[in-house]
Amino acid sequence: MNTLYFNANNDFIPTCSDIIRAGGLVAFPTETVYGLGANGLDGNAVNGIFKAKGRPNDNPLILHIADKEMLYSLWESVPDTALKLIDAFWPGPLTLIYKKSARVPSEVTASLDTVAVRMPKHDVALKLIEEAGVPVAAPSANMSSRPSPTSFEHVLHDMDGKINAIIDGGKCACGVESTVLSLVGTPTILRPGAITPAMIESVIGKVEIASAVLSPLKCDEKVLSPGLKYKHYAPDAEVIIASGSPKEASEKIKALFYEYTSSGKKCIIFSTLSSFPFYEDLPCVTIGDSSNPISMCANLFSLLREHGSKYDCILTEAIESTDEGLAYMNRLLRASGFKVI
Ligand code: AMP
Ligand code: MG
Repeated sequence: MNTLYFNANNDFIPTCSDIIRAGGLVAFPTETVYGLGANGLDGNAVNGIFKAKGRPNDNPLILHIADKEMLYSLWESVPDTALKLIDAFWPGPLTLIYKKSARVPSEVTASLDTVAVRMPKHDVALKLIEEAGVPVAAPSANMSSRPSPTSFEHVLHDMDGKINAIIDGGKCACGVESTVLSLVGTPTILRPGAITPAMIESVIGKVEIASAVLSPLKCDEKVLSPGLKYKHYAPDAEVIIASGSPKEASEKIKALFYEYTSSGKKCIIFSTLSSFPFYEDLPCVTIGDSSNPISMCANLFSLLREHGSKYDCILTEAIESTDEGLAYMNRLLRASGFKVI
């Protein structure tokens, strides 16, 4: 397939919204990561997303909307908790899950009776959805299991020739996927993001956090969110996380670095800004300031892509898994396959 490229400043709207309405696939920037969009009311179009990404069919998609009214046609009803959260956080990186209406095709929800919806905070995304006039089903625009794309180049690498169009909107401001919150029963965070548990609790009171956010699923555990089952964000290289204080973690990393290097493995260290001096002249890149974990997420995806195929092993430190650190540690643990020393 010949993929068309558009600049966000050019007139991408008529062609790209036509492609969406006609059942094609368009990758577009959002404030979180790039999305791979299709008409969310057209089951065949949605199947195209699964095919292009190699995504397992039982992993449901998020519907993106540009206007709050659209939600009323996608959910059975709109609970008060949702209205409060929408007032506080939409447009923005918060996805809400509730019981679906008959209008939503089973391809979007992987046959679940709930559907995930969000309103992105990005002019290009909002214009595209508005002009298409339909909810746009969109997972991240990467090959399944790979790090999410935070730039046009990442999307091009994974999707060129597989989809109809890509809109270049530069780097994503937030750089990590939305927080996913289920409002069925006790509100439960299924995926952490830039909207933290404390921010949500300040609006609707206590929320739960799905246990699979920071640990692998146990065999007999009920899968709240199918996406939690799968390998995710993984580069070719082995990723190993060192726990403990920055000093302890860096000692573990250096010991493993020498052990692996002597057995012929090529290793690189991803360091936080404050730990950088511990690694002296070892090969090391800075992933960011641990006081700003959300910015570290965006760097993580892009560094995993850049170094993941050049090295055998990536060694990095754990950070506090509270507040925004929860989103970072969720992505890092999954990228490593939960390999912590
Ligand atoms: P992505 O499309 O890559 O941003 O991933 C979307 C995430 O939301 C995945 O982890 C999905 O499993 C999850 N998700 C989407 N719809 C639902 C739903 N109806 N119930 C539970 N999780 C969902
Ligand atoms: Mg994804």
